[in-house]
Amino acid sequence: MSKQVTRIYFDNAATTPLDPLVLEAMMPYFTDKFGNPSSIYSYGRESRLAIENARKSVAKILNAHPAEIFFTSGGTESSNTAINASIHDLGCRHIITSPIEHHATSHTVEYIAGLPGITLSMVKLLDNGHVDLNDLEQLLANSDDKCLVTLMHANNEIGNMIDLHAVGNVCKKYGAIFHSDTVQTVGHFPFDLRSTPVHFITGSGHKFHGPKGVGILYINENVRIKPYIHGGAQERNMRAGTENLYGIVGFAKALELATEEYEAQSNYINGLKLYMMEKVKNVVPGITFNGDPLGRSLYTVLSVSFPKTEKSEMILFALDMNNICVSGGSACTSGADQGSHVIRAINNDPNQVTVRFSFSKHNTKEEIDFVVEKLKEMI
Ligand code: PLP
Repeated sequence: MSKQVTRIYFDNAATTPLDPLVLEAMMPYFTDKFGNPSSIYSYGRESRLAIENARKSVAKILNAHPAEIFFTSGGTESSNTAINASIHDLGCRHIITSPIEHHATSHTVEYIAGLPGITLSMVKLLDNGHVDLNDLEQLLANSDDKCLVTLMHANNEIGNMIDLHAVGNVCKKYGAIFHSDTVQTVGHFPFDLRSTPVHFITGSGHKFHGPKGVGILYINENVRIKPYIHGGAQERNMRAGTENLYGIVGFAKALELATEEYEAQSNYINGLKLYMMEKVKNVVPGITFNGDPLGRSLYTVLSVSFPKTEKSEMILFALDMNNICVSGGSACTSGADQGSHVIRAINNDPNQVTVRFSFSKHNTKEEIDFVVEKLKEMI
């Protein structure tokens, strides 16, 4: 970050800056330790060892078996692999999902639903944006086909979280396959996959101060699927292509750091979110918070809707002009801008302008004070 321009970065659900310790761990694999992990001589064996050590470390942190962890190019590829395999290899014919999934899931299931013999159902949402578990159970009970349930762990726009155990147990009762997009929670939540009834979860390095373009797919050991990407024998024949060696090393290092610091950082970041809620509520009249920010919600994300006025419509632009980085999202339903499908699904009010603030360990209360002051001036 340039020091001349004081930039405030409140868009950590989009991506996070690389931790310098992660970069340090990755560096040798850009230069000296460049061997192809498939080569049999020492350079290759060194690289292979780095990958297998990374896999062991990730598996240990998530309480999974190393054989259940596959490195991929990120969350999108991981979800595509899991969803496609559920249909083509595991016999699922009915996909149950929610209207607030990330496009990595929603566009994949919409595509697959166009194939012959596949049906797609949307689970209902409660007023606070949470998945209606009774409706999920009804859909499963009424299905004649084997189901794939794909529901994200934490929503990237509003922060709402599902209870993985509750959803997984309903899926188990009806013999459904359960995939959860956990891109916003791996690195931000203590997983214990040994005791979690889920078949597939996903992770993405750049959401927790790791590198972009690397992720994981966890495949429960009782599930046997075919590869999504065909070619060489990498990733135990499950994901062909020369491994993203430095990315994989960086992913594991970032997850180690996130885990070491989890208690302190989650409390700190949650404190920032609560502080922002309090401050912005007092300063800007008529605002609402989307989802369930004080309930089952990820501590990094805060979605705020402002009453629509000429000024608030320009809010993203005005924040950007002040070097404040946030994400948009609105219920806008006309014109080329379709707005956010998540906001539309939970709060279809075109008279609001929605902004997502998402925090990391690098943010401070002083930054929040500054942003709220700016919002006061802008609105
Ligand atoms: N799922 C969620 C919830 C996300 O927030 C993202 C990232 O934007 C993705 C999936 C896609 O992950 P990746 O960028 O690693 O493909």
